Parts: sequence; C-alpha cells; structure tokens
Amino acid sequence: MNSRKKSEMLFESAQRRIPGGVDSPVRAFRSVGGNPYFVDRGAGSRIWDADGNAYIDYVLSWGPLILGHAHPRVVEALREAAGRGTSYGAPTAAETELAELVQDAFPSMELLRFVNSGTEATMSAIRVARGFTGRNLIVKFEGCYHGHADGLLVKAGSGGATLGIPDSAGVPEDYARNTITLPYNDPRALEELFLREGKNIAAVILEPVGGNMGLVLPDDSFIEMVRRATKGSNALLIFDEVMTGFRVGHGGAQKLFGIQPDLTTLGKVIGGGMPVGAYGGRREVMEVVAPLGPVYQAGTLSGNPLAMAAGIETLRVVKEEGLPEALEARGKQLEEGMADAAREAGVPAYGVRLGSMFCTFFQEGPVRNFEDAKRSDTDRYGKFFHAMLERGVSLAPSQFEVGFLSSAHTEADIEATVRAAREAFATL
Ligand SMILES: *Cc1c(COP(=O)(O)O)cnc(C)c1O
Repeated sequence: MNSRKKSEMLFESAQRRIPGGVDSPVRAFRSVGGNPYFVDRGAGSRIWDADGNAYIDYVLSWGPLILGHAHPRVVEALREAAGRGTSYGAPTAAETELAELVQDAFPSMELLRFVNSGTEATMSAIRVARGFTGRNLIVKFEGCYHGHADGLLVKAGSGGATLGIPDSAGVPEDYARNTITLPYNDPRALEELFLREGKNIAAVILEPVGGNMGLVLPDDSFIEMVRRATKGSNALLIFDEVMTGFRVGHGGAQKLFGIQPDLTTLGKVIGGGMPVGAYGGRREVMEVVAPLGPVYQAGTLSGNPLAMAAGIETLRVVKEEGLPEALEARGKQLEEGMADAAREAGVPAYGVRLGSMFCTFFQEGPVRNFEDAKRSDTDRYGKFFHAMLERGVSLAPSQFEVGFLSSAHTEADIEATVRAAREAFATL
C-alpha cells in the first residue's frame, strides 16, 4: 500500500485551521472513509500527492479540466496574462472574446454575463427569472445540485446526499418555501404542479442531465414536458449546464436534446480550471440585468483577466480538437471495461455514461431519479474507491458524483484503469 504519511500530516494541520480541513465538504472523504490525499501537482491525466504517489485522475477538479492538468497552452496563456496584471476592475477585450466562444456553442445565450462560480451563475439566473416574471416560486428537482445559494440548497444531491444533510441549517424556512422540489424524470408531477401553481412560477431550473446524484439521464418525455409546461405558463426554463456544458456535447445538453431554454448557466469547463461561471439567455430576459435594467448583479473580480485567458485558450483547444465528441472512443473503452470487470467479479453494477461523464452505481439499476440512486451500496462504493486509489486511480470520493475524462487520458491510461478495476472489484 502507498504511504500517505505527508498527506496525513498536512490534513492534521489543515483541520486545526479550516473546518474539516477542506474548503469544500466532499473533499474530506467522509462518505468513503479515510483521509484525503493532498495534491502536490498535476500534469495531463495524472496528479501526484504530497508523498509522491501518482494517480490517473478522473476527478479533474470536479469537471473543469477537459484538457487535463496543466495543459501547456493554458499555462502559457495564464503566464502571458499575469504579466500584464491580474485584475483591473474595468472591461477587457478578453471578456467579449470568451463570450463569443461560449455563444458559438450556446447560441441560446444571446446576452451573457461572467461571474466567479457556478453558484453565482445559478443564483443570478434565479434573480433574473424572478425580476423578469415578477413571480417568486422556483421549481427544482430532487438530486439536482445548483450550487450552494440559500434558495437552491433544498434536496440538492451530491454533497448534501453524501453527508446526509437534505437541507442546510442556516437557510430560513421563509426562503426555502419559495423553492418547490419535484422528483426527476416525472413529467406527470410537473404537469400537476403547473396546473395548480403555473401562474406563480418564475422558473424551473434543472440539470438537463443529472450529474450530482451520480449520472442520471432524462427521458425525452420529461425534458419535453419541462419545456412545454414552462412555455404554457410564461415561466422561464433554466438549464443548469455548469457541469454538462462542453461535456455531454460541444453545445451542451440543449444541443443534444434540441431544446432551447430561456436561460443557461455555465461554469467548470469554460474557466479552464480558473474560477469562472456564466449566465445568459434570451436578449429580452437578460436586458433586465443592471446597468440595462433593475436586477442588480455585480462582482469585483468578475471577468477576471487570468480567468478569461484560461477559458479562452481552453475553449479554443476544445474547438480545434473537436471536444468533447472526440472523447467518445475513450469513454466507450472505459465504460465497457468497467462493466466487464464488475461482471467478472460478480459485483452488481449499473454503469451510465454520456460523452466524457461516467458513473458506476453499485446496484442493478435502472437509476432514473434520486430515490433510485440512493439504493446504491455506498459502503461497497467506498471500498472500491479505496481499492482503486491504492492502485493509482483517483475516482470521486462519493457514489453520488460522476467521473470525467480529459483529452490527456490515453488508451493506455484506460487499460491501466480497467486492470485496476478488475482487481478492485475482486476484493469486494
Ligand atoms: C458544480 C455545479 C454547480 C456549482 O458550481 P460551483 O462553481 O461549485 O459553485 C452548479 N450546478 C451544477 C450542475 C454543478 O455541477
């Protein structure tokens, strides 16, 4: 077994100064047991921990790094930008350039604004939807995560699911009352709600492909109903594509399904590993945003020149290399290899993959919503996770997260991963 002595020491001292020793809860390994590795550096498909152990990385900063770690062109763009200053608080041409690259893939975002995280993007999109419609109610789906803004931290999957906290303490009931949650993939429940409350609903927000309860694909009838119901009641449809944007396809889930939302939120890939989010949509809706309209939203570091530089270079390479579509063969190789490995070991497993996102539920499946996802054997997942880590493969430290591929992952990386998985499944 790899020594992780230095990581253990670093975690000890981190815990004395930072809650749980981490700046984002799932990093603490609570749901899989044990203590986290501390990262020293990353390159391509690999990360190295503080003790010098190497791992093939499928966390990839939870999705952003579609080009892998420290892509030379992204690093060079950052160096060049840093030499000209790190922030001005005044507009730069880089913001328009990144906006163009985003709009090229997401034409529904006629006007868009950059913020510093996915959380800020969804929080702002909700405010815009309420400002535009003059209504208060927001509809979200169980197991969909939209960042940690108060009104969206209700039945929010991933971190909350991992820790068994359905709703966060510190969110006033008055606030959560304006958020209605429904089961994912249940068009009937949505239709019934709209019959009752349609004229009071400002927006429906959803992950058009669920990525924070493990990976859950939507039925066509569900996505169509979401669009039909919102349109019929003059409520807005918000696609939260913070994870799926440039991941399930170049134009995100909206291109894949041929459905136009009114507003879209992005993050992760568009920042190339720097803190960036974006929200945007129909021109007439986005014109309510200050300084054009009455909905206030601002940011000292929004459109930051380093973040824009990393995003621009990332999206240029993404386009040149035909990503994420070009990752299909690798994704298939991994999906089939993992399924075979589980079958050989006689471990019940239900694999789901879309483009460069994948997930193995430790159960027979199918998994169509959060209730289904929760039937997975999370103890078994934890054991599998650690068995993979010992064999040099880093997966997400929770059953309710997905894995990501990058263009740096080679065929040999996938072969090594499947070999490790064969051994890891056999230990269960
Ligand atoms: C990650 C994520 C967010 C939150 O983004 P942060 O940058 O972590 O604030 C919002 N929505 C979805 C779908 C996400 O996957």
